[in-house]
Amino acid sequence: MTEKTIGPKTLQEWKSLYPLLHRLMSTQEVFWANPAYGRMQENMHRLPLGMADLINAEKRWERFAPYISRVFPETEKSQGRVESPLVGIPQMKEWMEERFQRQVPGKLLLKCDGHLPVSGSVKARGGIYEVLKHAEDLALDHGMLTEADDYAILDGERFKNFFSQFSLAVGSTGNLGLSIGIIGSQLGFQVTVHMSADARQWKKDLLRSKGVHVMEYQADYSKAVQEGRKQCQKDPRCYFIDDENSQDLFLGYAVAASRLKHQLAELNIGVDGHHPLFVYLPCGVGGGPGGITFGLKLLFKDHVHCFFAEPTHSPCMLIGVMTGLHNQVSVTDFGIDNITAADGLAVGRPSGFVGKTLEKLISGVYTVGDDHLYLLLRTLADTEKIYLEPSALAGMPGPFRLFQERAGQEYLEKNSLLPEMENATHIVWATGGSMVPPAVMAEYYQKGYSKHAQNPSS
Ligand SMILES: *Cc1c(COP(=O)(O)O)cnc(C)c1O
Repeated sequence: MTEKTIGPKTLQEWKSLYPLLHRLMSTQEVFWANPAYGRMQENMHRLPLGMADLINAEKRWERFAPYISRVFPETEKSQGRVESPLVGIPQMKEWMEERFQRQVPGKLLLKCDGHLPVSGSVKARGGIYEVLKHAEDLALDHGMLTEADDYAILDGERFKNFFSQFSLAVGSTGNLGLSIGIIGSQLGFQVTVHMSADARQWKKDLLRSKGVHVMEYQADYSKAVQEGRKQCQKDPRCYFIDDENSQDLFLGYAVAASRLKHQLAELNIGVDGHHPLFVYLPCGVGGGPGGITFGLKLLFKDHVHCFFAEPTHSPCMLIGVMTGLHNQVSVTDFGIDNITAADGLAVGRPSGFVGKTLEKLISGVYTVGDDHLYLLLRTLADTEKIYLEPSALAGMPGPFRLFQERAGQEYLEKNSLLPEMENATHIVWATGGSMVPPAVMAEYYQKGYSKHAQNPSS
């Protein structure tokens, strides 16, 4: 009998190289600090994108602001900016300190991307940005627009007719489809969303109500992407939004960093050698957390520490980066089923682009069980009246796990951070939830009261 191989090694070899795989494979919660984590100075030259790209992306968002504020009236008061608040969550912090039996020194803030306008999740950053960029490219190429125009003109029959000759396609577990579908159909594009089996019914219904074509698959996210890519390639007027590889999506997300920098300044929160910033980002395929990390690293360099959070049943980025196999590996190769209540994070194969770009800049990755997500969902609603979807809670235990777990302690020691922790700021990135229908939210909330969720054993 030949032994099972994954990439260049046998399963046994992988397990002896990376003993953490034992716990990962039995879907226990883990905390992994990245041994390859390095200084920004030494890694900047390896990055395919830089500050100029980030600034261009910011400017593109600004050009579109008059259009956004016109077609999405909820953005009027933010002058067409698609941005979310950064808020303190003192009651939640207190509850968690009790539960984890540990004080977290420093500040704890929640970045409320679940309340982003237009599509109610972090995907409103990358997804909308890439569609805007594509629309702009088309309109510029066809001589219909110049960068100096007031982009509010895009809201009219002339442009809608023009864009209706073109189509967009995307593979999604739900939220990316939602953001592409909403902005794409608003501009006039024909949009097809290829939905994985994880996608929630209400997201499909909402998209169909906007005239978006929704294809459903009984398979997971990777399959939905693959099919979408294949079908789109047959049509020269179809543009595929490639969540696994897209630099535009990545830049759309990265703009979050410059916005955050302003928000921190408004709160008089400094980030420097004596005031480290820790950020905890839920991770699916990696584009969202990756893009945000990239932006933060450009702006704050070694003073920011970015940890990714994944479901115990879908730790694709952790396994991809730890083994160096990146997109050559799926969690299912290690017998992990990729079935999780965190539908936004139900991804078995990570983005190779994100993993390779950031393999030395991600501080670490930890995993969270579904029962914990539900418990945290319910508690955040009870303590702070903030309602999120399960995926969006994955960041929440981050600060506690960092202090609690040996690998976290070692990370702080190794980077000489222990003396600075009193002055640290921890930002939990809440990535989705404001569009969840009340009945579905009530079900989520109720699950936080189940016996299992009360005493989650990982
Ligand atoms: C998509 C998503 C993420 C993660 O983004 P990726 O780009 O897939 O890593 C996190 N939270 C929610 C709610 C999402 O929809």
